[in-house]
Amino acid sequence: METCDALIVGGGPAGSSCARQLRQYGMDVLVMDKALFPREKVCAGWITPAVVEALQLDTQDYARQHVFQPITAFRTGLIEGGNVETRYPTTVSYGIRRYEFDNYLLRRSGARLQLGQALKSIQRNGNQFIVNDAITTPLIIGAGGHFCPVARFMGAQLGGSEPAITAKEIEFKMSLEQSSVCGVQGDTPELYFCRDMKGYGWCFRKGGYLNIGLGREDNHLLSEQLERFCEFLKERGRIPMSIPDRFHGHAYLLYGHSVRNQIDDGMLLVGDAAGLAYPQSGEGIRPAVESGLMAAATILEAQGDYRRQQLMPYSSRLVARFGAAPAPNNVGQSFAGKLLAGLLLKNKWFTRHVVLDRWFLHTHQLAI
Ligand SMILES: Cc1cc2nc3c(=O)[nH]c(=O)nc-3n(C[C@H](O)[C@H](O)[C@H](O)COP(=O)(O)OP(=O)(O)OC[C@H]3O[C@@H](n4cnc5c(N)ncnc54)[C@H](O)[C@@H]3O)c2cc1C
Repeated sequence: METCDALIVGGGPAGSSCARQLRQYGMDVLVMDKALFPREKVCAGWITPAVVEALQLDTQDYARQHVFQPITAFRTGLIEGGNVETRYPTTVSYGIRRYEFDNYLLRRSGARLQLGQALKSIQRNGNQFIVNDAITTPLIIGAGGHFCPVARFMGAQLGGSEPAITAKEIEFKMSLEQSSVCGVQGDTPELYFCRDMKGYGWCFRKGGYLNIGLGREDNHLLSEQLERFCEFLKERGRIPMSIPDRFHGHAYLLYGHSVRNQIDDGMLLVGDAAGLAYPQSGEGIRPAVESGLMAAATILEAQGDYRRQQLMPYSSRLVARFGAAPAPNNVGQSFAGKLLAGLLLKNKWFTRHVVLDRWFLHTHQLAI
C-alpha cells in the first residue's frame, strides 16, 4: 500500500497550485490524474496578471518555450452587431495554451505524480482513506474539475440539477494562408455577446494558434448558436473561411450556482470541483489557482488535524475572497439588467469600466 500526506485528485491549475504550496512546506504530496500530461483541456486560455502573480510565474522563462501572448486591447460587441475597440496602455492579460500551461505547472509543483490513473474508489478507514485499494492518506483534495469524483463522494449530484455553463471550443494551429487572412490580432481578443446576454462567443489568436468558442448559461441550441457565430466571424473577415469543425464541449459551474459542500472530514474541493468560476466572465483559472492556495494555507494551519471543523477556515477564505454566494435560485443579473447591458455594449465607457475592467479583468480585486 502506498502512503502520502495528501492526495490531490486532478492535476489542473487548482491541483498543481495546491500541490506546489504543500510541497514547499515539506508535505509528501501525490497528484493523481486520469490523463497523461501534457493533455488537451477545453479552454480559451486567457489569464490575467493576477494569475501570473499568484502563481509566481517566471514569465520570461515560461515564454521562452511556450505560447505566451500579451493582450493590450479587446474588441467587444453583440453577435451580428457592431463592435467597440478598447485599448490599454499596458498588458492587461495573456493568452496561454492549456496543453502547455497545465503541464508546466504540474511538473513545477514538485509533487509525486500518478498520471493516466483515474480515481475509482474511496473508502474511509478511521482517520484515513484508502483510494483505489492502493493508496492510504489522511487527506484528499478534490481538484478533478466539474465532474470531480471526490465531489461525488462528498454528495454532489454531478450533472444533475446544477445550472452549469456549457461551452464549445476549438483551438488549432493556423496554416500560413489561414494566418494571412485572419483579421483577429493576437494582442486584441474579440468577445461577442449573445443578444439575450446569456453567453458570449470569443475569438482569440495566440502565437500561431486560433481559439474560437461560445459558452452559455443554458445549453439551448448551443451548436446552432456557435455555427451562427462562426458564420458571423467569417462574414466580417475575422477568421479564415475554412476552419476545422471538431469543436469540443465542456460544462462547469459559476460561483454561486453550486450547492456543493467544499469541505468534509479529511476532504476539500478546489477549482471547478467546488464550482468557483467568476459569474460574469466564466473565468475559472484564477479561482482555481487561488482556491488551491487557500486550501493549502488551511491544510498547513490544521497541522494534521483534518476534521471538518479544522478545515472550516477554507470556506471562510472563499467567502472573503469571492463574496457570499447568492442563493442558487437568485443568481445572475435580472432580465432587465441583461437587456440594459446588451444595449450599453455600444457605449465605450460602459465597455471599458464595467464589461472589461470589472467583469472580465477584475481589476478591483488584487492578486492574493
Ligand atoms: C470552453 C471553455 C473556455 C474557458 N476559457 C477560460 C479562460 O479563457 N480563462 C479562464 O480563466 N477560464 C476559462 N475556462 C474555465 C477553466 O477552464 C476552468 O475553470 C479551469 O480549468 C478549472 O481548473 P481546475 O484545475 O479546477 O480543473 P481542470 O483544469 O478541469 O482539471 C481537472 C483535472 O482533473 C482530472 N480528472 C477528472 N476526473 C478525474 C478522475 N476520475 N481521476 C483522476 N483525475 C481526474 C482531469 O483529467 C483534469 O486534468 C473555460 C472553460 C471552458 C469550458
